[in-house]
Amino acid sequence: MTDCLFCRMIKGEIPVKPVFEDDQLLVIQDIAPVAPQHLLVIPKKHVANTLDLQPEDEALIGHVFRVAAAIARERGIAEDGFRVVNNNNAGAGQSVFHIHFHLLGGRQFNWPPG
Ligand code: C5P
Repeated sequence: MTDCLFCRMIKGEIPVKPVFEDDQLLVIQDIAPVAPQHLLVIPKKHVANTLDLQPEDEALIGHVFRVAAAIARERGIAEDGFRVVNNNNAGAGQSVFHIHFHLLGGRQFNWPPG
């Protein structure tokens, strides 16, 4: 998608400093962090959000969570608690319509979330 912000980052059209990258994922720091650690785990495949996932995407989403857990451990936020958050549609706070997962840690979180 030529007008998708995250596709442009993935293609290198918008420069980013990857925290992690492989053939399926790009992980970057969020530009407006809401926690001491706030990363975005972004699948390279353009999918607007969870509602558009297909059966063949199941392994990809499993990979998202495995990578998120590995990064949480590496960054020392695993033991004290971290979140992996995926917002779907505007009412839930989705502002970029390319599926992504917020990895949040380094502070106390409340439940229910805001
Ligand atoms: O879940 P949502 O779609 O709102 O998340 C998009 C995230 O992308 C936001 O947390 C926003 O700060 C981040 N962002 C970014 N770099 C940009 C534009 C948005 O990290 N250039």
